Amino acid sequence: MAEERKHYRPSWDDYFMAIAKIIAARGTCDRLYAGAVLVKENRIISTGYNGSPPGLPHCLDIGHLLEDGHCVRTIHGEHNAILQAAVQGGTSTVGSTMYCKYNPCIHCTKYVIAAGIKRVVVGKIYRNESAVQMLKDAGIQVDMYQENPEWNGEVMKIFSEDIPSRSNEGQVKMEGKL
Ligand SMILES: [Zn+2]
Ligand SMILES: [Zn+2]
Repeated sequence: MAEERKHYRPSWDDYFMAIAKIIAARGTCDRLYAGAVLVKENRIISTGYNGSPPGLPHCLDIGHLLEDGHCVRTIHGEHNAILQAAVQGGTSTVGSTMYCKYNPCIHCTKYVIAAGIKRVVVGKIYRNESAVQMLKDAGIQVDMYQENPEWNGEVMKIFSEDIPSRSNEGQVKMEGKL
């Protein structure tokens, strides 16, 4: 008998960090694929990846715009998430939580503070740890995301096979229309 496929249901942190990683893949500068999700009361209010300002060419197409060893062509994912919330109107960023694949750089750190974000969940430390200290100094809760092998394995399966559902086993009989 085949081993039963167990489904791992993600925690909120697992869930939003996985989304941040997928968002990062849309980046247009290959020097770093960063991604951020802005969440309020466990609902996504905006997302962002590293990309050129709308309408301008991408690093991937025309090369980088280097200043002091940094590419400055793109708006960072964390900054883009805050800007997207502004563009969309709707929900204030005050009191929100930001999930980011890497810790925000010093510039994005300032924007995070100014946007009233109250918690930042960081996937990995990328260079500037003093920026993390600045977040803490501003009273923002900073949590390092703990990679979860069980969830990471589940993510791989989600993209290659169906999540087992009771109806697949014939235990739930749907009657009439859904
Ligand atoms: Zn670039
Ligand atoms: Zn940044």
